[in-house]
Amino acid sequence: MRPSRQRDQVRQRPAGPGQPMAASLDELQAKAAAVHEALPWIKRLSGRTVVVKYGGAAMGTAGFDAFVDDVVLLRYVGVDVIVVHGGGPEVSQLMARFGKEPVFVDGHRVTDAETMDLARMVLVGRVNKTLVGRINTHGRLAVGLSGEDGLLLVARPRVDPGGRDLGYVGDVDAVDPTALRALTDKGLIPVVATVAAGPQGQPYNVNADAAAGSLAAALGAEKLIYLTDVEGLYADLADPGSLLQQLTVAEVEAILAGGRVAAGMVPKLSGIVTALRGGVRRAHVLDGRREHALLLELFTDSGVGTMVSSEPEGFGEPHDGPAGRRIGTSAPDGPGAAPTGREVEA
Ligand code: ADP
Ligand code: MG
Repeated sequence: MRPSRQRDQVRQRPAGPGQPMAASLDELQAKAAAVHEALPWIKRLSGRTVVVKYGGAAMGTAGFDAFVDDVVLLRYVGVDVIVVHGGGPEVSQLMARFGKEPVFVDGHRVTDAETMDLARMVLVGRVNKTLVGRINTHGRLAVGLSGEDGLLLVARPRVDPGGRDLGYVGDVDAVDPTALRALTDKGLIPVVATVAAGPQGQPYNVNADAAAGSLAAALGAEKLIYLTDVEGLYADLADPGSLLQQLTVAEVEAILAGGRVAAGMVPKLSGIVTALRGGVRRAHVLDGRREHALLLELFTDSGVGTMVSSEPEGFGEPHDGPAGRRIGTSAPDGPGAAPTGREVEA
């Protein structure tokens, strides 16, 4: 009889001094327990849609390869995962190579026709294809598209309150998720570069955070996740002890109204409000530099980063594992409440 893999490992002995000891049965048991901990979470998310926005700030960090593997794992456990990406730093780099100085007005890149051309080259041609190529090292999984494809994202020109000319900068006016659904229905992973179609079909520059929020709402997603270069949302960015672990959408609206956040966090919080007011249950801001931030949040009892719920009683999602970080019940849903497949999607 062929011995089991586990018995093979347990029975292995170090070949000599300096050789690693094979895993003990206790260690293997701990690994099994970690996988088992994921079961209720997989039951909850399988057949549902999760939109993940991967920020330019996290690209090129140690977390990148792990992020790609986590996205693939999500797909293999039956989650309809949609990746939305930024790439602002790379756009600025290419502009510099063409002797163009980036100018920002209230966080929006002033986008003349040449800048729009460069941004589209970088986002659609480079960043998008890098992500698609890396995901597809796991097989035929990812398909890249921009907001112009299938009129996924249509923009209306943004009017600057100060009357400044922002060029081809737009706000998301309409979302048509038909192309995304065509892909997820075939088990594929759409990877979206957030260049939108303008009023006359010309490319428009829309904020990737805002686009992710609008897409999540249009898809009726279960979750919207922002991966960026901070642990989450801080009450005070200068105070590392002020990480806000759990908020309601009303609290996020109050923070936005109070003007207490700045820079890149504002469009994420606005995107969260768009998504949660549009029917998405939860949103998260996670540190994309951290390896496996996605798995830690989605498939462990403790969770990481900042979680925003659509309503206060929504805190039933368990995050009261050994770390006791969040308050809630200990099971995601009662028996029979887990999604059974695509038909549960609204
Ligand atoms: P991304 O490429 O992921 O969109 P951004 O740089 O645009 O990254 O946004 C993330 C940044 O938001 C952080 O690096 C941080 O400097 C900034 N930020 C501003 N206010 C806050 C806050 N209250 N909590 C966390 N981050 C904040
Ligand atoms: Mg940003």
